[in-house]
Amino acid sequence: MIEVKHVKKVFGKLEVLKDVSVEVKDGEVVVILGPSGSGKTTLLRCINFLENADSGELTVGDIQVDFKKASKKEILAIRRKTSFVFQNYNLFANKTAIENVMEGLVTARRVPKDIAQKRAKEALNWVGLSDKYDYYPSQLSGGQQQRVGIARAFVLDPEVILFDEPTSALDPELVGETLEIIKKVAEKGITMIVVTHEMSFAQEVADKVIFMDGGVVVEEGPPEEIFTNPKEERTKQFLSRII
Ligand code: ADP
Repeated sequence: MIEVKHVKKVFGKLEVLKDVSVEVKDGEVVVILGPSGSGKTTLLRCINFLENADSGELTVGDIQVDFKKASKKEILAIRRKTSFVFQNYNLFANKTAIENVMEGLVTARRVPKDIAQKRAKEALNWVGLSDKYDYYPSQLSGGQQQRVGIARAFVLDPEVILFDEPTSALDPELVGETLEIIKKVAEKGITMIVVTHEMSFAQEVADKVIFMDGGVVVEEGPPEEIFTNPKEERTKQFLSRII
C-alpha cells in the first residue's frame, strides 16, 4: 500500500531523514516510535507532501513517484489517498465542527453540499459527537477537537490515514477517549501510520513497530518482538526510558 524508498530530507545543514525506507501493507497499522527530533513527523509529512523530500521514491497504492520529480497532478492524487491527523488538530477556528468535516469534501472533492453535510454528520456521529455539530473548536475540549480532526480525515474515505502524535497535545484524561476512536478507525481496516509515544496503544493495535533515531530506521518488527526482545542497543535504551 505504501512504500517509501531511500527518502532523504535536509533542513539547512541538519540531515533529518538519512535514507529511510518503510513499507506498509494494505490494512496494516504501523506505529513509529523514537525520541523527539528523530525525524518521525518529517517522514509522515513527506509522505503527504506537506514537506518536500530531497530524494527518494514513494508508492501509494497504484501511484509511484520520485519525491523530487512528482508532478502537481501526482501529488494531488497521493493526497486524495492519504488523510492527515495533526498533533494540534489544525481545525478552522471560524468554522463549526460540521463545517470543518465538510470542508475537504466540498472544496477538494466537489461533493454537493447536502451530501457532504450528510456524510459529515455520519462521521461526527461515529466519533461520538452527534451533539456537537454546530460547536466551534474553541467550544470543544482538546479530545473533542481531535475527534473532529479524525472525522475530517475519515470522511474523505482515504486509503491511508497518517496520524502525527494525535494525543500528545491532550490533557492526560482525554488521551484514552481519543485512542479509542483511533482504534475504531483501525478496526475498519484502513491502513494507518501512527507516530505516538503511547506504548500500550502500540502494543495493542500495531501490526508493526518502527523505531527511528537520528534520522534512520534503527529497528522494526511486530510489537511483541520490539517490546519484549529488542535487538538494537538504541531501541533498548529508548524503551527502558519510556516504559
Ligand atoms: P520527531 O517527529 O521525531 O520529533 P521531527 O521530524 O519533528 O522529529 O524533527 C526532526 C528534526 O528536524 C528536528 O531537529 C527539528 O527541529 C527539525 N525540523 C523539523 N521541521 C523543520 C523545519 N520546517 N525547519 C527546520 N528544521 C525542522
